[in-house]
Amino acid sequence: MEIKKGIAVSPGVVIRPAVVLDAEEYHIPERHISPDRVDDELKRLEKALSQSTQELNELRSTTAKQLGNETAAIFDFHLALLKDKNLINKMRQLIETKHVVAEFAVASVLREYAKQFLKMPEYLAGRVKDVYDIERRILHRLIGQTHQRLIDLDEEVVVLAHDLTPSQTANFDRRHVLGLATDAGGRTSHTAIIARALGIPAVVGLKDASISTNPGDTVIIDGNRGIVIINPDEETVEEYQHYLQKRVEFEHTLDQIRDLPAITADGHEINLLGNIEFPEEAQTVLEKGGKGIGLYRTEFLYLGTETEPTEEDHYRAYCKVLEIMGDLPVCIRTLDLGADKYTQSRSPVPERNPFLGLRSIRFCLQHLDLFRTQLRAILRASMKGNVSLLFPLITNLTELRQAKMIVRDTMEDLEEEGYEVRTDVPIGMMVEVPSAALQCNQFAQEVDFFSIGTNDLIQYTMAVDRTNERVSPLFSAANPSVLRLIKEVIRAGQRYDVDVALCGEMGSEPEYVLLLLGMGLRTLSVAPPAIPEVKKTIRSITIEHARKVARQVATFESDKEIIRYLRDQISQVLPELY
Ligand code: PEP
Ligand code: MG
Repeated sequence: MEIKKGIAVSPGVVIRPAVVLDAEEYHIPERHISPDRVDDELKRLEKALSQSTQELNELRSTTAKQLGNETAAIFDFHLALLKDKNLINKMRQLIETKHVVAEFAVASVLREYAKQFLKMPEYLAGRVKDVYDIERRILHRLIGQTHQRLIDLDEEVVVLAHDLTPSQTANFDRRHVLGLATDAGGRTSHTAIIARALGIPAVVGLKDASISTNPGDTVIIDGNRGIVIINPDEETVEEYQHYLQKRVEFEHTLDQIRDLPAITADGHEINLLGNIEFPEEAQTVLEKGGKGIGLYRTEFLYLGTETEPTEEDHYRAYCKVLEIMGDLPVCIRTLDLGADKYTQSRSPVPERNPFLGLRSIRFCLQHLDLFRTQLRAILRASMKGNVSLLFPLITNLTELRQAKMIVRDTMEDLEEEGYEVRTDVPIGMMVEVPSAALQCNQFAQEVDFFSIGTNDLIQYTMAVDRTNERVSPLFSAANPSVLRLIKEVIRAGQRYDVDVALCGEMGSEPEYVLLLLGMGLRTLSVAPPAIPEVKKTIRSITIEHARKVARQVATFESDKEIIRYLRDQISQVLPELY
């Protein structure tokens, strides 16, 4: 039995045999053809390219139907590559002048192309995977080499891989692939996004789990704790089976409270909202019993597209969410591009520290056209529902004031153009860097609400890259410094009568829900699949108990002590969870 610790990115537990996707590239030897076969070889190339295009078009349209257009847009980059004249000409030239076989021409040209992305900033380096993906697809057509295919499985499995490309993930047979685990990746990797959208357990950042697993090995993927167990012993399997049985019963009780309010056992009402990335997820928020969208991450409009989303692209996406949500609140966050998130910026000079670089609101304030395009769409859409506007990564008052000024200017422009806009759209800011948390009393006088982004707040407080599996043990929400910053923000909210929400992953863990309510928090926004469990937690605890817990936690010195204590306290209230 081997236990691997990674980053939990999609909740749930599954025990199944493994399918292991190898990371090895095709090995393509430099084979030559006689000059009289050049024309045939060019035809082979052309056929493979057109078959791949057809296959991708089909895949794109199926994905669009099942997961929405934004997810399907991942394949636009692939389709663009297949049409790229420059690349195709290079392949043809190799065949014509060097008389190499088509597969060698494809591999040389695309691998050279992939290398260029490796020199680019981290967020563009991810494109390498897309290039390899397309290479694999064309080669498959040319040499018919069969890799283990995940579209015609006949038994339920979990998939382990070094990393997964968008096409691999989207191609899965949903009925049979019940869990995902990858060596690479962070919370915002393709694997994480798609696993959450599919609602299957996933763990990423496992370093070498795929190498340690043989096809057919029994594997437990624990997407709640971020653990993968390879060839578990009988006792562990029994433990997990027992846990799963309890989980089934627990989930049954969750279904029953879906339409009940998120109210504590002693009568305090909590706003329980959902985080979404794609408009389609708004429906899931409602189905899971959420009462609005606390965080709409709009940068996913950029997923897989090479072109800037237009005002209409933004507007359509927002209207779709508002239509689903009716009068319920929808908090639209302005673009949080850069660092680990998609961006169109093809900066010629790679950033050395992208997480500390030109990202998020800083990026928007330097790319005003892009910022205004989005703001125009949000403000226009504000007429269709209960919209609020949220700025990410604010670090100082000047940024906040500039961003608010641009909102006012944009409103005026729209009014002058004859659009109707709401002039009272609430404006809030993410508190996700220590400087914002430490100056929250000043910020509180200039915003309508705060939303605490613990994913980044922990990253910047603990100086730990949230996507780097090698330092993940340092990423702890229970660190006393992190908790002190959160407490400051909640206090400032109370002092200045400013709503405080928390939208980081921390808010979906029952032990932290207990602590946060004790610290005075009353709004939580979590990933849609986590809503039922958080609601159950809220309904099981009293504020009186939660306050006592928060007071006790303030006396501890280490995250380990805090976690142990919180688990002990929550398991007394919700024994079915443990
Ligand atoms: C956060 O940082 O906690 C957050 C909610 O935003 P994101 O994960 O999109 O950075
Ligand atoms: Mg953030």
